[in-house]
Amino acid sequence: MTGQVVVVGSANVDLVVDVPRHPGGGETILGGDLRRTPGGKGANQAVAAARAGGAETTFAGALGTDESAELLLTSLERAGVRTDLVSRVDAPTGTALITVSPDGENAIVVAPGANARLELTAAQVERIAHADVVLAQLEIPLGTVRAAAAARRPGAVMALNAAPSRDLPADLWDALDLLVVNEHEAADLAHTDGTPEDLAKVLLERVLAVVITLGADGSLVAERDRPTVRVPGIRVEAVDTTGAGDTFCGVLAAGLARGLALPEAARLAGVAAALAVTRPGAQDAVPTAAEVEESSR
Ligand code: AMP
Repeated sequence: MTGQVVVVGSANVDLVVDVPRHPGGGETILGGDLRRTPGGKGANQAVAAARAGGAETTFAGALGTDESAELLLTSLERAGVRTDLVSRVDAPTGTALITVSPDGENAIVVAPGANARLELTAAQVERIAHADVVLAQLEIPLGTVRAAAAARRPGAVMALNAAPSRDLPADLWDALDLLVVNEHEAADLAHTDGTPEDLAKVLLERVLAVVITLGADGSLVAERDRPTVRVPGIRVEAVDTTGAGDTFCGVLAAGLARGLALPEAARLAGVAAALAVTRPGAQDAVPTAAEVEESSR
């Protein structure tokens, strides 16, 4: 049986320029050639879920009617994501302005555009109601995340990648089954510092299951009433960590949709994310299921 994933989230075109250093206020500096690549946490995660295989992935997001929308649709479709329910709204497609300094540090401004207008249509709600896993992030209105959670069927997993970091209202906590966060987001949500195990313990008071990604150190999987496990990282030559977290989330969702237990889904997600780190770009860096399997042996 094929699982069903619906990713409810953002799509952005990333406009990327390498700079000798980030400009200060009022300053103009010359950078390298402009790169225009498909991104946005929602679209990146949908591409990763589709490439992981074993699940059919729908992207429920909003695009404008401009050329950027076409770039994003092409990337999603090339990965095998279903785009039949993507909303087209009267706003520019989301855009991220990114400068990258020689030490690899990014400075990013996001113009949300169409993403801020994402409201679920009846057809999107219907698709969500048939999904095994619904995966959202926080680059879209909170009300839309809430509506996605409300639309899922009993027994389906409502997963939230709580990025970019922000506090969650109590009703949203109650609507989640799984939280996926990096260490910084975990500390923000837990309102404390500590080891990943400490943070997971605090977060488990609010949600049934938590995965904390730990960069090169892999991830931590914590579920109520089950032992907490560390999934070790995979040693790779890091080239570009953009989209590593998104690859992790998408592959995790696809694994859960085809019935894997959370630690096994996190193991595969970690292999895929480590492979993504060895390649430049976000969506273009996401490996296929065959590549992940090859590296898991
Ligand atoms: P992060 O958002 O940095 O926690 O990364 C998400 C996931 O990507 C991690 O859980 C790892 O599976 C993988 N990852 C990130 N950075 C690295 C790295 N330098 N080496 C290997 N895997 C990485």
